[in-house]
Amino acid sequence: MTIPNPYDSPTARRAFLAHLDRLAALTETEQDLVRLGQMPGLGRWLEQIHNIGGCAHPIYITGHTTTRDTITGDVLRHYTTRDEPGGRLAIRCGNRRAGLCPSCSRLYQGDTFHLVRAGLIGGKGIPDDVRTHPRVFATLTAPSFGPVHRAGTCHSNRRGRCAHGRTRRCRTVHADDDPRIGQPLCADCYDYVGHVLWNAHAPRLWNAFCINLYHHLAAAAGVKRSRIRKHVRICAAKVAEYQARGAIHFHAVIRIDGPDGPGSTPPAWATTGLLIETIRTAAGAVRLFAPPSSAYGERQLPYGDQFEAHALRADAGGTLTDEQVAAYVAKYTTKSAHESGALDHRIGHPDRISHLPLTAHHRALIGTCWRLGNVPELAHLNLHAWAHTLGYRGHCLTKSRTYSTTYTELRAERARHQGALYTHDTEDTVTASAWSYAGSGHTPGEALIALGIAENVARSRELARGARA
Ligand SMILES: [Zn+2]
Ligand SMILES: [Zn+2]
Ligand SMILES: [Zn+2]
Repeated sequence: MTIPNPYDSPTARRAFLAHLDRLAALTETEQDLVRLGQMPGLGRWLEQIHNIGGCAHPIYITGHTTTRDTITGDVLRHYTTRDEPGGRLAIRCGNRRAGLCPSCSRLYQGDTFHLVRAGLIGGKGIPDDVRTHPRVFATLTAPSFGPVHRAGTCHSNRRGRCAHGRTRRCRTVHADDDPRIGQPLCADCYDYVGHVLWNAHAPRLWNAFCINLYHHLAAAAGVKRSRIRKHVRICAAKVAEYQARGAIHFHAVIRIDGPDGPGSTPPAWATTGLLIETIRTAAGAVRLFAPPSSAYGERQLPYGDQFEAHALRADAGGTLTDEQVAAYVAKYTTKSAHESGALDHRIGHPDRISHLPLTAHHRALIGTCWRLGNVPELAHLNLHAWAHTLGYRGHCLTKSRTYSTTYTELRAERARHQGALYTHDTEDTVTASAWSYAGSGHTPGEALIALGIAENVARSRELARGARA
């Protein structure tokens, strides 16, 4: 077992404390290990846990599946959990968050990598020609809601004091892990309402940007808006991520295809340079307003001007490689909300907000979500339910249907290789299955064994990768 170095990062510190807890609980775990050692079918249980990569929170199911020949009725394949240890089978929890299940999150990260990569260079059913289409990696941010401490040189040149008597200047040069980064210089000046409204409307802001992108491309090409989809199709894969200040920002791979999708060539006027310029103007032109309310008046929700776009096509002078971008996007999808100052779990009652183990700034954002959750005009945003994610209720990764393959298809492909529960009937076969839930999670001893298996699986994957490289 590797012992996390507590000086590495807040994550490592938490892991180190968890490690100490594990040591303290050793007697209980030892007893449990003795029990496991005597368990009938231990070998098969270990095999099950190995098959699911040492998942940290497996789901146990009972049931059976039978595949028959459609015409003769002969049984071609039969599996029942009756012969398994305890009469049940472990399946993966499938959680994408590294802090909750390292094994399943690695799998999810791998799937995201392949999904994003296929949209950049082809494969998994996407033609290789997409690599010749204009492709851009863009970052879209929220506007400023008030000055916050920032990494490196902070606000060293600002003068005077705010209306609350606080200095507008910060001469500190903040190290990258300084917990003050992202905290406002004056919490009373900070526009918490605007910030939460922006996060809550982030999915709509993204849609508005995509519509503008078509309109602005049409204008640049001299084509009618209503006709632009007869010339090009735009597709994207984007991740939503929290900045240190708790605002959502988007990283997106955006690609132009011809009118029939990935397999058709875009027109000559659709260049990478034009795409970059159009992304900039399309984001800048978004005019979205929060529903007007007496609670905060009229609020416009613009994009911030910290805009970035990089060409991904090598001959257009791209600085980022396809692999780098796919790995970058994949890494973000497994971050837990907690690592970004939000929470992984819903808040049941507003009284709990003041006790949350978060910065004052993040507690203030959650408190603002709760207050705005009582505003009738915002009822549709369901802000009480999304206070723990600072108002954002979108998905971590979203993509256009035509961008590339899907998670479902990637999982099915893996299941086909692994056999087990995968059933895919042809016209010659028919399968009947019945499964039910039989519990979840590990006992302390089982958790320790699963952790060891997960680390072994990860290590052998690293070695295999090293051998290929
Ligand atoms: Zn898992
Ligand atoms: Zn500062
Ligand atoms: Zn102030």
